Amino acid sequence: MVFECQQCGECCHHMGQVHTIEKNCGESEFLVNNQYTGEKTKVNIDSDKHDLFSDKSIFSDHPEACPFLRYHKGDRKAYCTVHQTRPEICKDYGCWRLLIVNSRGLRAGRIMYQRAFFSDDTDLTRLWKECIDPLVEPDDLVWDKKITRILINAGYTVRK
Ligand code: SF4
Ligand code: SF4
Repeated sequence: MVFECQQCGECCHHMGQVHTIEKNCGESEFLVNNQYTGEKTKVNIDSDKHDLFSDKSIFSDHPEACPFLRYHKGDRKAYCTVHQTRPEICKDYGCWRLLIVNSRGLRAGRIMYQRAFFSDDTDLTRLWKECIDPLVEPDDLVWDKKITRILINAGYTVRK
């Protein structure tokens, strides 16, 4: 299964440290500077996201959020308000290598890079500590198979 973003917005919560607005060019166009690479990108607020962009309340909870990240009050999902013209580094980003989904079809955890585990799910975190952390398996492909079996046996689904 291909990577499918669930619009939680977490990946952009601290991107304000990377993407800063260098210039407001008017007419909803901004010049964005990547603080680390120096890359400059001209972005435009998507035509259907002007109202969303004008709501700056996200910064009370997430002061380091990317200047273009917003949460929609209706569906509570995160939106990149410059999605159509977002910087290159944002385009290919996928935040997991393996996605762990619980029996209700909700994201329970994710594995980033080769083996880095992230989860807010206490049951899954416990399972991970008890059954997966102690696994000694140097081969990454075999490790994937072994952990997938453990997770499936515990009622989770693993997606790539
Ligand atoms: S890429 Fe991942 S962290 Fe970012 S919004 Fe989508 S699901 Fe959330
Ligand atoms: S430009 Fe969009 S995708 Fe990129 S960090 Fe900002 S909100 Fe996220």
